[in-house]
Order: sequence, then structure tokens, then C-alpha cells
Amino acid sequence: MQTQHDFKEKKIRQLEEQCRRNGLAITVQRRVIIEALAERRDHPSADQLYDTVRGRVRGISRTTVYRVLETLEGIGVVQKVSNPEARARFDADTARHHHLYCTHCQKIQDVSDPALELLPLPSEEYGGFTIAGFSITFSGVCPDCRTVQSQSP
Ligand SMILES: [Zn+2]
Ligand SMILES: [Zn+2]
Repeated sequence: MQTQHDFKEKKIRQLEEQCRRNGLAITVQRRVIIEALAERRDHPSADQLYDTVRGRVRGISRTTVYRVLETLEGIGVVQKVSNPEARARFDADTARHHHLYCTHCQKIQDVSDPALELLPLPSEEYGGFTIAGFSITFSGVCPDCRTVQSQSP
């Protein structure tokens, strides 16, 4: 069985490899941000990532975290996840998959159900719009929040 640790190490190697292929050097700042992205499965915002990495690299600024994320997004290593919030949330998994969004704690969880791939696409009659892909965000309440809600009087 694959442990959480194996998963993280594999993900880090894969992300670094993608950076190198795009001619992007792995600086200390990029390395810690990649690590933080690989270990979090909740699709963090830039500010959440900043909170994770600020204790690991001396003097890293919020601006640096934003800039690194933009760079990583620019070369397709991470993607922004569409969600009902105004702030961007980042995903180090750029293969097509879908998301569950908790409206209570704002956690975003992955979902890849083969049935979702069978969704009929809008017809070509939509002004000749060519569809290249789609991503579905389901919103609702996660199990953790549901437990808390049902326990409250
Ligand atoms: Zn929740
Ligand atoms: Zn995702």
C-alpha cells in the first residue's frame, strides 16, 4: 500500500521534474512551495500556503509565494481550481478531475468518478464555441462539518 509519505515524495519529484523540463530552476523558495502543495490535499489558497512555508524558509514573503504560484501556473505545474470564493485555490494535480467544495469550511476535495466523464457537452449551436475541457465543482457540506452541525443543539 502506498503511504501518505510515499505519495508526497513522488508528487514532489514529479513537480520538480516538470519545472526542470520547463527550464525552471528549483530555488529554495520554489522547493518549499512545491513541498507544501504536495502535502496538502485541500487545494490551499496562496495565503494558506504562505502560512505553511513562512516557518520553513527565513524571510519568505507573501509576495514571493504569490509570484512562485503564478510562475508554476504559467508552466502548467499547478492549476487554479474554480470555486465560489473570490480568492484563487491551487491544485498540483493538473490532470482532469472534479471537486467537492464545502461551503462551511471551504475545503476542496478531489472527486474523479468515471460517470462524470459521460456528461453530455453543450451542443455546437452555442455560437460555435469549441469546448476543450470541463471541470465540475459540487458544493455542499463535508462529513467533518456535518458531524459538527448535527452535534450542536
Ligand atoms: Zn467542511
Ligand atoms: Zn483537485
